[in-house]
Amino acid sequence: MKAVPKQDIPAGRFSSWLQLTKKAQTVKGGADVPCGTCTACCRSSYFIHIRPDETQTLASIPKKLLFPAPGLPKGNVLMGYDEQGQCPMFKDNKCSIYEDRPQTCRTYDCRIFPATGISVGKDKPLISKQEKRWKFDLKTDRERKQLAAVQAAAKFLQKNAKHFPEGFVPANTTQQAVLAIKVHEVFLDSGKAKSNREMVENVIHALTP
Ligand code: SF4
Repeated sequence: MKAVPKQDIPAGRFSSWLQLTKKAQTVKGGADVPCGTCTACCRSSYFIHIRPDETQTLASIPKKLLFPAPGLPKGNVLMGYDEQGQCPMFKDNKCSIYEDRPQTCRTYDCRIFPATGISVGKDKPLISKQEKRWKFDLKTDRERKQLAAVQAAAKFLQKNAKHFPEGFVPANTTQQAVLAIKVHEVFLDSGKAKSNREMVENVIHALTP
């Protein structure tokens, strides 16, 4: 039998997405993701980080489901997942605490994978399927340059992780993609040849307040 082609999902204009994604990383709120009926991220064996100031969220989740987040200051907690890889708050095919869901869930946007060219990884097959379906709208040269810069940043970080201070380039693919978005501007003028060392310094500088 012939395989049914997977339908593409419009991911929107790349420049608008990039702008909103950068903003969502710095301000409280969330990403406006056209998820439709997809619930892959709630069923993909993620540990969900919840910060101490997310009081509404913390009050909505039974304490026994939370444990201290390793390496983070006191009060930061993680929520795990069940044997099927589902978040314990995912009930009847939806988030049972949607109005009070963690900030981590509000900002999660799997378009970050096709944007950066980083794959979520084989251990998350549901998201892996979804990431291949997004198609960005690239109307202008600027948008094409921005996409190239984001992908160049992602490649550079992965290839040169050992040249950065320990822990600067996260091992987690989602966090790598977030970092590539944050520092992509360093790669916008990649036509001007720079040494790897200069690029490493510029990337670190881009994150220095
Ligand atoms: S808290 Fe809600 S939105 Fe977040 S992973 Fe769990 S079910 Fe999904």
